[in-house]
Amino acid sequence: MKDILPEPLKRLAESCPAPLYLVGGSVRDFLLGYPLGEKADWDIASPMDEDTFVAAAESRGFSVRAVYRRTGTVKLEDGEGRGYEYTRFRSDRYLRGEHTPSEIFFTEDMTLDARRRDFCANAVYYDIAGGKFADPLGGTEDIARGFLRTVREAEKVFGEDGLRLVRLARISAETGLVPDGECLAGAKRNAALIGDISPERIFMEMKLLLLSDQKHGDAEAPLRGLRILRDTGVLAGVMPELALGDGMEQNTPYHVHDVLEHSFLCVRHAPPEIRFAALLHDVGKPFCKLRDGNFYAHAQEGARIAEDILTRLKAPKKLTEETVFLVKNHMRDFDCKMREAKVRREIVAMGGALPALLALKQADFSACKGDPSPAPTVVKWQDILAKMREEGVPFTLRELAVNGRDLQHAGIPERDTATALHELLNYCAEDGARNQRERLLKYAAATFK
Ligand code: ATP
Ligand code: MG
Repeated sequence: MKDILPEPLKRLAESCPAPLYLVGGSVRDFLLGYPLGEKADWDIASPMDEDTFVAAAESRGFSVRAVYRRTGTVKLEDGEGRGYEYTRFRSDRYLRGEHTPSEIFFTEDMTLDARRRDFCANAVYYDIAGGKFADPLGGTEDIARGFLRTVREAEKVFGEDGLRLVRLARISAETGLVPDGECLAGAKRNAALIGDISPERIFMEMKLLLLSDQKHGDAEAPLRGLRILRDTGVLAGVMPELALGDGMEQNTPYHVHDVLEHSFLCVRHAPPEIRFAALLHDVGKPFCKLRDGNFYAHAQEGARIAEDILTRLKAPKKLTEETVFLVKNHMRDFDCKMREAKVRREIVAMGGALPALLALKQADFSACKGDPSPAPTVVKWQDILAKMREEGVPFTLRELAVNGRDLQHAGIPERDTATALHELLNYCAEDGARNQRERLLKYAAATFK
C-alpha cells in the first residue's frame, strides 16, 4: 500500500513520535482492489494527542485547517493541497440515536478505537511508516468475503448513532460489500433513529448514495443502496411519501414493477445530474392512488410533494427547483399525441431545462421494462428540435430579429413589450423563417397595437 500513498503523508508518518495509521475508506477501498485516485479521502489516526500531532504536521509543511479538541480531530492539508482528517484513538459513549457522542475517552488502545467505529471493514489500520496492516476486528476477512459487519452488536452500533443507518446503505452501494444478517436486522430494529439525525447530514448521505456509481464505476451501486434503505425501513423515515409506493402495483401495460422499485430503476437509468428527480418523479402516485384511486394527477401532486421532501432535507434551492420542474413535467406528451406546433412552443419555453427533461423521460421509459431503446417521446421531441435548429428558430429573446426598442418605435406600448417579445418567440417557434425583422414587426403590430 505504501507505494500509492502521497509522499508528504509518508514523510509525516516517519517523523511522528508514535505510529501514524491510515484507517477507514482508503484502506478498505485499497483492500477491495479499487484504485485510490487523487480525490481519495485520507483518514488518519494514532494515539498521539492533537498538540503532538499538530507540531509534527506543521514541522513537515502541512497547514492545519481546524482542531476540534473535544473529539481529538484535526483537519489539515499538505503542501500540494491534499486534505487529511486526523482522529486521535478514542472510545465514545452515546445518548441513544444522536450522531454526536455524549462522552469521549482518549485511549492508546487500537481495539477500543476500532470498536467506536461503524463497520469492521472501516476499522482496518495501515501503519504508514511501518508498512504493515493492523486489523483488530477482522475487517480484512469481511472485505475478502464481501460483507459489512458492525464493530459490536449491531443493535448497539445503530442504536447509538442513527447516521450509521444511511452510511450502511451508502457504503454498501459504493463498495459492493453486503450487510450480513445481523447488521441488517440491527438496522431494521433501529430504523426510527434516523429521525434524530440532522436533515443536512441525511441529504449529504442520500446524495452520495444516488451518485455512488461514480465512486468505483459500478452502475448497479445506487440501486443496491436504495434497496437497503427500503428493506431496513430507513427510507420510510427519510421519505415516507415515496416509501408508500413499496408494493403498490401499477397494473398498466407499461409497468412490470411496483411504484417504488420503478423509481429505483429510474435512478439506475438516469444520468447523475437528475438522480433526485428520477427518484422522486412518481412520488405523487401513492398520494393520488390513496386519495383518488388512480394516478391521473400524480405529476402535479408529485411536484408539490418533491418540494416538501427536498425542503425538509434542506437541499440546495437550485436542486429543489430543478427537481420540482422535472417531476411536474415528466409526463409531458407521454402518449406522443401532442401537436408539433405545441411541442415547438414547449421546447422554446423550457429553454435550458429541456435536456434534463428528455433524460428523465428516457430513464422513466427504460425503467418500465428494462428497455434501453430510445423512448418514443424523446425521439419525437429530438427530431422536432433538430428541425427547429435547422430552420434557425430563435430559442432566446436575444436571438429574435427585433428587440424591445424596435417594438416601441413601431408603436407598441412599453407595458406590452415583454409580453410581445415572448409572443414573437412563440410565433417563430412554429417556423424559423418567421424570424425576420419586417415580418415580426408586422405581426407584433397586428397583435398588440
Ligand atoms: P469514504 O470513502 O466515503 O471517505 P469512510 O468510511 O472513510 O468512507 P468517513 O466519513 O471518511 O467514511 O469516515 C472515516 C471513518 O470514520 C470510517 O471509515 C469509520 O471508521 C469512521 N466513522 C465515520 N462516521 C462514523 C459514524 N457515524 N459512526 C462510527 N464510525 C464512523
Ligand atoms: Mg473517509
